[in-house]
Amino acid sequence: MNITIIGTGYVGLTSGVCFAELGHEVTCVDIDVEKIEQLSSGVCPIFEEELPELLAKNLAAGAIRFTTKLSEGVRAASVVFFCVDTPPGEYGKANLRNLLAAARSCAECLSDRPVVFVNKSTSPVGTAALLAETIRKIAPNTPFSVASNPEFLQEGSAVKNFLQPDRIVVGVTDARAHEVLHECYHPLIDRGVPFLATSIESAELIKYAANSFLALKISFINEIADFAEHVGADITDIAKGIGLDPRIGPLFLEAGIGYGGSCFGKDVKALDRSGEEHGYEFKIVKALSTVNDLRYHIILKKLKKHLGELKGKRIAVLGLSFKPKTDDVRDSPSLRIVHELLDAGATVTVSDPVALEKFKVVFSRNGDITYEADPHQAARDADALVILTAWREFRELDLNELKNKMSHGLIVDGRNIFDRAQVEAAGFTYEGVGR
Ligand code: NAD
Repeated sequence: MNITIIGTGYVGLTSGVCFAELGHEVTCVDIDVEKIEQLSSGVCPIFEEELPELLAKNLAAGAIRFTTKLSEGVRAASVVFFCVDTPPGEYGKANLRNLLAAARSCAECLSDRPVVFVNKSTSPVGTAALLAETIRKIAPNTPFSVASNPEFLQEGSAVKNFLQPDRIVVGVTDARAHEVLHECYHPLIDRGVPFLATSIESAELIKYAANSFLALKISFINEIADFAEHVGADITDIAKGIGLDPRIGPLFLEAGIGYGGSCFGKDVKALDRSGEEHGYEFKIVKALSTVNDLRYHIILKKLKKHLGELKGKRIAVLGLSFKPKTDDVRDSPSLRIVHELLDAGATVTVSDPVALEKFKVVFSRNGDITYEADPHQAARDADALVILTAWREFRELDLNELKNKMSHGLIVDGRNIFDRAQVEAAGFTYEGVGR
């Protein structure tokens, strides 16, 4: 298949490289000139396992190319995937400006060859219809279809998730779109990956329902964790005890400082907002944002419990990305927590194995903040060490060396990565979440 991908972010780049790996000819288009230059020369602009190697391999094989010229991609393509960002707009409503701009630009370069437009960007029910209307207005005589193909990859394991997905969901209304999407994914379908074809509305809602359900598991276990602290129970044992029930399952039951990242927060709010627009009031979905938006408080509360006022205290923050194995700091809890620490008058040193640079760009605030690549150095003279991301590198830290570097031995473990007994044996005071 001749595939064009519009938007080369976490989803577009992974999809493009993986479609090339599956044997298709791929053109990736983006409006970001610098990103396209980097990608064309084989530089992967994001930290994602296996992606740089597959990018280099498929560039060398001529299976993938990058351009800012949309017309080059659209004229040759039989299928165009929209993978642009759909950030939160007013009152949490998904902002479709980039998506509709991409659709308009595509419509302007259509020839009379039929094209299947596929929306991979997460967007509310009705978006595919809006895309079709937008394209039809500009190219009324060109045959085209619009389909929805929600993306479920997770940053940190995006390549693996794309090449070995749990399922492929497509929302289609016509046989041609069904056939084209089946062809795009046929190497995976041949390997037994379920290919679920639904109405477009169902496919659009499946993505929001999936993310909201995952956010629900996190918020639920966090609420139980807070109660566990009141009654002297341990959330790790509780998660194990309920997760062994196959109806519940063990995943996404890790208590901590809540979900972050560019998807869960915005998608939960966008679903809630979409309900309101259709005259439907979500109750559980609404509560998810309320519960999660308050999570960051627990870190400050636990620090103050041991240190009193934070003014003048030195805090080492380990972990800036919203989860391990990615450099993505969008909507990461670390942004909010570091702001709060600085507001409270603390001196903060932050460290992360890969996300320091991205954090520096997004965290637009100077003041008492230092960036330190080595976590042991970050801990030097600190009154407390705060864990915000469950990086394996932090689990493997030498606790005795850390303790010697710090002026006081307090660890506030926002991700429950440490074993209390081990940390206490090294002389630390330990505060986890729900234990
Ligand atoms: P991103 O911000 O990393 O990338 C978006 C890219 O689109 C950027 O490179 C931007 O320059 C480009 N772009 C914007 N407007 C454009 C236009 N008119 N023409 C060409 N390029 C344009 O976003 P992302 O994280 O890859 O997410 C993309 C979509 O996929 C979102 O809707 C998101 O909710 C969804 N999604 C994301 C993930 C994830 O883990 N990041 C997972 C599943 C679904």
